[in-house]
Amino acid sequence: MNVPYFDLNGQTKSIRAELDRAIAEQLDRGSFCLGPAVESFEKEFAAYIGTKHALGFNSGTSALHVAVRMLDLKPGDEIISTPYTFVATSWAIAYCNLKPVYVDIDPATMNLDPAKIEAAITPRTKAIMPVHLYGHPCDMDPILAICAKYNLTLIEDVAQAHGAKYRGKNVGTFGRMAGYSFYPGKNLGACGEGGALVTNEDSTARRARALREHGSYERYYHDEIGYNYRMEGIQGAALGVKLRHLPAWTARRREIAHRYHELLASTPLTLPKEASYAESVYHLYVVRHPRRDALREHLTKRGIGCALHYPLPCHLQKCFADLGYKAGAFPVAEKSARECLSLPIFPELTSDQQEAVGGAIREFFA
Ligand SMILES: *Cc1c(COP(=O)(O)O)cnc(C)c1O
Repeated sequence: MNVPYFDLNGQTKSIRAELDRAIAEQLDRGSFCLGPAVESFEKEFAAYIGTKHALGFNSGTSALHVAVRMLDLKPGDEIISTPYTFVATSWAIAYCNLKPVYVDIDPATMNLDPAKIEAAITPRTKAIMPVHLYGHPCDMDPILAICAKYNLTLIEDVAQAHGAKYRGKNVGTFGRMAGYSFYPGKNLGACGEGGALVTNEDSTARRARALREHGSYERYYHDEIGYNYRMEGIQGAALGVKLRHLPAWTARRREIAHRYHELLASTPLTLPKEASYAESVYHLYVVRHPRRDALREHLTKRGIGCALHYPLPCHLQKCFADLGYKAGAFPVAEKSARECLSLPIFPELTSDQQEAVGGAIREFFA
C-alpha cells in the first residue's frame, strides 16, 4: 500500500465548502491585506492560545523576526537557542545582527536541555529562544527559572506546537512573545503562507503591529524602519475556518501517535515519548535508530513516505560557518540528525495506511 509522508488534499476536501465560502467572501469584499477576516482570526487565535493579543503575519519567520527585533539589542548580543530546529529560529536572531548561541538538546525530548543552558550564558546573553520541536513542549519551569535568575527575555518558537500544553497550560503563553507558523504543512496551516506573533503586553502588540506595517502607527508616517509582514485577508479567512477544526485534528494526531507507540513497541526503534509534564500535539512522529538510512530506503521501496527533520543541525550549516562551531560541539543534536526518521502523521492518515507503515517497519527489523 502506498502511504504518502504528508497529504493535505484530504483535509482540504473535508472542509472545501467552508473554505470556498470564506475565500469568496474576501474576493467579494476586496479585502486582501489584513482586514476584518484577519482581525477576527486574530481574536479567535488569541482566545485559543490564551494570550491577550495575536497578530497575523505573512510567515512564522517574519513573526519571529519582529519578536527579536523588539528586544532592541546591540549587534553581537547573544540569544541562546537550539541547534536542532528548522533554521528559521536562527534567522530571526541573525536578521537582527545578533549571535545565536547554541546549547545541546535533551535526548529524551529533542528540545533544548535546560541543564546545559547556564554554562552558555555570558555577559552578552540577552534572551532564550526555545523551540517546542515536533509539537512536544520544552521543560519550561527550569527555563523560566534561568530567565528570572539572569534577567533574560523568553521568546518561544511555537511553529510546530499549536495548542501543546506544558503542565496544563498552552505553550506560547510562557514568554514575553511567541511566534507561530501557519505554513500549509503545520498543524494549523493557511492556504499559502502565514504566521502569528502572540503576547500579553499591550505596548508590545502595538509596536509589533506598526513594525508589521512599514513601521507606521499612522499611515504614511514612519516612526521606525518597518517591514511589509502583513497577513493576507484570504489567509485570515482560511485560518478562521481551519482553527475551528484544529482541536479535532490534534486529537486525531494524538490517536495516531498512540497507535504508532503500540505498532512499534516491539521494534528496536527509539520512539517519541511524552514527558510527564507534556501534552504533545505531534506535529511530527520522529523515531530514531542507528540504521536510519537503511530503514528509510526499505520504506521508500515499499511506497511509504518518510522524511528527515533535520539532517544537519544549525551549527553545522554552511550559512553559520562564521559562528565557528565544529562537528562534535553538540553530540546529542548531531546523533539525532543521523538517526531521526519522520513517519507519516496527519489527521487524515487512515488506520490501514498506518498498519502498513507499522508492518513495513517490523519487516525491516525481522
Ligand atoms: C516552520 C517553522 C518556522 C518558520 O515558519 P514559516 O512560516 O515557514 O516562516 C520557524 N520555526 C520552526 C521551528 C518551524 O518549524
